[in-house]
Amino acid sequence: MEKKNINWSELGFGYMPTEKRYVSNYKNGAWDEGGLTDDATITMSECAGVLQYAQTVFEGLKAYTTEDGRTVMFRPDLNASRLADSARRLEIPAFPEDRFMQAVNDVVKANLAYVPPYGSGATLYIRPFIFGSSSVIGVKPAEEYQFRIFATPVGPYFKGGAKPITIKVSDFDRAAPHGTGHIKAGLNYAMSLHAIVTAHEEGYDENMYLDAGTRTYVEETGGANFLFVTKDGTVVTPKSDSILPSITRRSLMTVAEEVLGMKVEHRQVRFDEVKDFAECGLCGTAAVISPVGKIVDHGKEICFPSGMEKMGPVIQKLYDTLTGIQMGRIEGPKGWLYEVK
Ligand SMILES: *Cc1c(COP(=O)(O)O)cnc(C)c1O
Repeated sequence: MEKKNINWSELGFGYMPTEKRYVSNYKNGAWDEGGLTDDATITMSECAGVLQYAQTVFEGLKAYTTEDGRTVMFRPDLNASRLADSARRLEIPAFPEDRFMQAVNDVVKANLAYVPPYGSGATLYIRPFIFGSSSVIGVKPAEEYQFRIFATPVGPYFKGGAKPITIKVSDFDRAAPHGTGHIKAGLNYAMSLHAIVTAHEEGYDENMYLDAGTRTYVEETGGANFLFVTKDGTVVTPKSDSILPSITRRSLMTVAEEVLGMKVEHRQVRFDEVKDFAECGLCGTAAVISPVGKIVDHGKEICFPSGMEKMGPVIQKLYDTLTGIQMGRIEGPKGWLYEVK
């Protein structure tokens, strides 16, 4: 397969239309046959459910080239099931998981020329989503929906090494108890924009959100889960019903426990314990792990011993092992790599 003439290592994280995308429409109570299309635009009612009441859910995953030249995706079955969970919470008809797998495979296959070569650090980012497409003015679920998957090449997340970031404890809340924090919905991002713009204006890279009910426990950032390492090397990740279940975080916990033989804990984490941890990182598909060097709580600084120059040793080990598994350099648990065929 002839690759596109793109300067892969200089690509940022932006949208570049590729040749094909997948579309299936839901009407009269059923998803149609669906298929690939060249049309990168959508025409719908000005009163569509997604435009009026934000009825939409999404996923994000990557396709990339392994060391031995295979085109793979990392655990796309978990994106299929999480999208279905997200859909049900917003009264959106779930897209069948087996059809999701076929569709995501077909989109990558049709855009193989845009899957960056091994070693470039770039990937093909895949965005599946479902939205209410029929008109809705009285508040209720739409009757018609579209499921769509497009793909766009994105550059390496860390250009020139992963530098630790500084985050602030936000005065805004991300997710209410019993709300929608655990699903991947655009609405969670719309309301996070003001908080992140404010944090950036103040010179911080990200927000740490605490639990909205009591402001006692650590939740997550706008788009990544926390992972902490204690001074005696236990990997700790916060547990809450309003945290989005990150596939990267779940995979890192498995790697820590089953591949590296470390002690792991998935439990509530009080904010006042954070000062005692040795290392901190943020996990998500985009970066795998971004190291956190400093957390600022209203002027009070928590500086992790790992410092502001490089990742802490445990987080580095987790990062190297998971990215090694993803790139096919290290044997991982069975079924984690899905080969595009
Ligand atoms: C997508 C997302 C994550 C990261 O999940 P991954 O499956 O690891 O990409 C974390 N938090 C939020 C709020 C998210 O939307």
